[in-house]
Amino acid sequence: SNNSNPSVTQQQEPNRSQPQLQSSQLIKRSARDYQFGQKIGEGSYSSVYSAVDVHNGKTYAIKVLSKQYIVKEDKIKYVNIEKTTLHRLGLQHPGIVQLYYTFQDEASLFFVLDFAEYGELLSIIRKFGSLSEPVSKFYMCQIVDAVRFIHSKGVIHRDLKPENILVAHDFSLKITDFGAAKLLGSSDDPNDEAIDYNSVNQTNGDTAVTTNQDRKGSFVGTAEYVSPELLKHNICGFESDVWAIGCILFQFFNGVPPFKGETEYLTFEKIINVNYNFAPGIPYPPEVVQLVKKILVADPASRLTIPQIMSDSWFSGVPWDDVSYIWYRKVP
Ligand code: ATP
Repeated sequence: SNNSNPSVTQQQEPNRSQPQLQSSQLIKRSARDYQFGQKIGEGSYSSVYSAVDVHNGKTYAIKVLSKQYIVKEDKIKYVNIEKTTLHRLGLQHPGIVQLYYTFQDEASLFFVLDFAEYGELLSIIRKFGSLSEPVSKFYMCQIVDAVRFIHSKGVIHRDLKPENILVAHDFSLKITDFGAAKLLGSSDDPNDEAIDYNSVNQTNGDTAVTTNQDRKGSFVGTAEYVSPELLKHNICGFESDVWAIGCILFQFFNGVPPFKGETEYLTFEKIINVNYNFAPGIPYPPEVVQLVKKILVADPASRLTIPQIMSDSWFSGVPWDDVSYIWYRKVP
């Protein structure tokens, strides 16, 4: 439906304390420009290191992807989506992990990203079991604001979950992992540097490089946060990101997401039936209960939209043009 699509107006975002492009950024970077530190994480086809830029002394997270692995596992498409999306969303909003540079050598691709000191939001939820109402509200404002921005750029994230939301040194949140994203509209960056996979030694003769193969119908996202419309009708719009936001809001108070079965199949069954409960003994604020109920609605057209969430009474008084840590400290 029309009003549930906030992307129709491609708003110009104010440049909120984002670094300006430096002339040095015109010079091609390489791994020599960084002092690599500890490995801070590992993905299914990547390793992430902290690294200090030898020119400005700042710490970044550098995601290193093995070209051989990407080719072998047929992940070229996902890597390209992530890079293109980060470029489309780049240097405009503090709630998105910034991609500053990309470069490659024979074996690897390097993505130079914002360093999120406290790692995944999931680990913070796990550490405390659940979050207090003010902290939940502070984090939820940032997520809603960032997703509003992402949608305004014609991007559907499609895999929002606390593992894909990183926490920076000032407790600002940064949404990451755009490998499952859907980009609406024209293709981006026609002049963007192509990834050269030719240098990859393909020792295995049956390695198939299928960059153009579209996998319509394949499941994207994570079982617990996937929307009923994706499961039932294989459709995934902006409303599906809103569904995930509802699951995350519930999880802040509950510790675990609303739909969680013993198996993926049982999880899907719960989602399709919108079968979840507010556990007794948890002091959910009544406004949060109402908000969650209005988001976790099976019919995407009847689900709250991002603008409706922003004007919900739980968020009354939130200065949406500056959802920052400073604001949180002002809350009594
Ligand atoms: P998968 O590829 O299997 O979905 P993933 O998306 O988590 O996993 P990566 O993006 O490579 O894989 O991230 C691996 C881990 O590194 C993450 O779980 C996170 O803890 C950490 N990490 C990723 N990016 C950053 C960052 N910008 N700052 C700090 N830590 C990060």
